Order: sequence, then C-alpha cells, then structure tokens
Amino acid sequence: MPFSLILRNARLANAGDTNATVDIAVADGRIKAIEPRISGEGESVDAGGQFVSAGLVESHFHLDKSRILDRVAPLEDRRGTDYMKRVSAVKDSFTVEDIYARSRETLEQCILNGVMHMRTHIEVDAPIGLRGFEALERVAKDYAWGVDLQLCVFLQEGWTDVPGAEANVVQGLKRGATVVGGAPRYDANGPAQIERIFALAKDFDVDVDIHGDGGYTTDDMMIWQICDLTDRMGWGGRVALGHGNKYSCLPDADVQKLGKRLAESGVAISVLPATDMFTSGRHQEHSVMRGVADANALIAQGANCSIATNNVLNPFTPYGDCSLVRIATMYANVVQRGTDKDLSDCFAMISDRPARILRKNDYGIAVGNPADLVVWPTNSPAQVIATAAQPLMGFKRGRRVFTREVATLHRP
Ligand SMILES: [Zn+2]
Repeated sequence: MPFSLILRNARLANAGDTNATVDIAVADGRIKAIEPRISGEGESVDAGGQFVSAGLVESHFHLDKSRILDRVAPLEDRRGTDYMKRVSAVKDSFTVEDIYARSRETLEQCILNGVMHMRTHIEVDAPIGLRGFEALERVAKDYAWGVDLQLCVFLQEGWTDVPGAEANVVQGLKRGATVVGGAPRYDANGPAQIERIFALAKDFDVDVDIHGDGGYTTDDMMIWQICDLTDRMGWGGRVALGHGNKYSCLPDADVQKLGKRLAESGVAISVLPATDMFTSGRHQEHSVMRGVADANALIAQGANCSIATNNVLNPFTPYGDCSLVRIATMYANVVQRGTDKDLSDCFAMISDRPARILRKNDYGIAVGNPADLVVWPTNSPAQVIATAAQPLMGFKRGRRVFTREVATLHRP
C-alpha cells in the first residue's frame, strides 16, 4: 500500500518500560497504521526511537494583542497593575494589517514549538470592533496548513455597562466564531456579564471560555455561578475558565471540593502561569504570592485542566518564546510538581486535556486520526516537561511543517 509518510522508530507514550518502538504510516493526511516495521512505499523518516506525540494544543491565547511591547507606555510603578490601561491606550493603532502581521509572527513561533491547535481570544470592544476578528479569520485560513485555529470573541473592557458593546460579540458569532468569552472582572456587573455569555452560547450553540477568578483572595469566586449555569443549560464539556489565581489561595480541602464540582459540571480550568505569576501579589513587597492554581490537584478530583500561554510580549506578560513546553515546565516548578506521574499529567495538560476543551474528537495518535505528529528529543512525556525540551520536527496532517537543528558541541 502506498503511504505519503512512514514515521519510523517512534516511541509512544504508552510504550511502558519496554523499548518497543513502532512505525506510523500516513496516507491522505491520516494515520493508516501503527505497527512495528511497516512495509510499503512512501517517504520514510526516522524518529530515532524518540518520543512522538500528537501536536500540542494551546487552549487559551491572545494572538491579537501579542507583540505590542514596543508601542506601549513603559511601566512606571514597578508594583503597578495598569496592564489593561497600557494596552487600551494603543488599541487605536490596531489595524487589520497590523493585527494580521503580529498574529502571524507569533503563530509561526508557536508552530515551531509544536503547537497544532489553538483557541485564540479576540477582543471586539469598541475601539477595535471587528478588525481583530477579520485579521484572525485570515490568519486561520492562511495558516490552516500548520494549525487549527479556534476563534473566541469577547469584550475585554466591560459589557453590560457599555451600551451597544454586545452587538460586536453577536456580529463575531454570526461570522462564525465558535466560542464566546468574557472578562466579567472588568464589568460593573460581573454576574450579569456571565449570564449574557451563557445566553449567547445557547442562542448560537457555541462553547464558553471566560477569564475569571483572578485576584488574591477567595472572596466572590465566579466559578460557582459558572458551574450552576453550565448545569442548568446542560453545557458540560463546553465551558472553560482561564486563570483561577484565587484557587491558589484555597486550603487543600476546598481545592478538592472545587475539583469535584468542576468534574460534576464539566467545567475546565486553563491555568495561565506566565500571566498569573506576572500579575499576582503586586500588593506585596516581599514573600510575593505566585497565584498559580494547582491544576494537578484539580485533575486528581476528576476535573479537566490545561496549561496555556495566554499572552506574549505585551503588558500582561512581557515575555514569550511561544514555547508551550517552557510554560508547562515553569508551571510544574511553581506548583512544586516533580514526580514522573505529575510531569506526565503536565504534558497531558498541553496535549490531550486541552484537546478535550477544544472538543477535538479525533485527537491523538490512533489509526484514523489526522496525522499531527511531533518528535521530541526525549523518551517520555514526563521528560519533555522535566527538560523543557524543544521539538525536533512536526507533521501536520502528514506534511512536515518544521524541523529543528540540534545544537552541536565542538570539543577541542
Ligand atoms: Zn486570556
């Protein structure tokens, strides 16, 4: 049988202690066989016995406001929390072309780091309107060869207290956004914004992904309202919350209670360590809190969680190499998770678990699924996280999309 690609000597996550490797044969962009020593015609690529995973999944990203550090006002007070104000001040400069160019540059770096699926949040507040949506629509189309992009429209700067603002969200949903988001913290009436988000999700039959429970006390957690609405609407498995800094302030017993509730309702949490850490504890001069929720503790109770990058090179997170693995390693370090099981779970939180949030039913290395494959210079998922590994090569629907040269040591 002719194949377009045979990826040979691949070590899969479930290989166990054996040294067994398999060949993965691809035709028409899909995995046709996973067996030792497949014979057949087709381009043969040697994975060298290294770990091979499915493409990584970014479940929470903001392409539209990435790479704007060079145009925002400098941070004047080191403990300042004016991230949104500094972004807001430059939104007038966001043209469709500008958003397209920055998003593209960021997305290319993500692809080089093994990302093949992404949910990107798009601001549709009045100063930008649908310019971001238009740009991302084009990016999604132009980069479909490398990444499946899911568009989530939301209002960053108020909703129920901004007359007419909702019209842009509705417009985005009419134009095909498959997720409705929100930032209730910046609304004069947060609970009312959450109600509107769910009402639109029902009207348009789309998923929900809300920024929430940032902050450093356990007061007024919005997750309970979100779980209630999810239950009432029967939207389990279609709702996610990004951040959850507050959960890092809960005692163990309450974390367990939360994990159980999330599991029952089918509400997922995306932890965003780079932003969460950069913005947390600004009120503290020393012993600064980290503000990163322990997602491992939540998944231990049956909840679904992911780790995601969120922001790149903007006032909310003035860093970013677009390596989702580096973010996961940083997360594990901060929440002090280091066993093989913990680190494997961390890898799952940038692959299988966010794939469930994005409702990718054909995700993973199995016969019949799209041949989205990444080769790592390690022998297990846990080792990818432990060593903050960079992927060696990646294939999207069987076509090679990147190759990384390994650094060479020149001995004397
Ligand atoms: Zn976000």
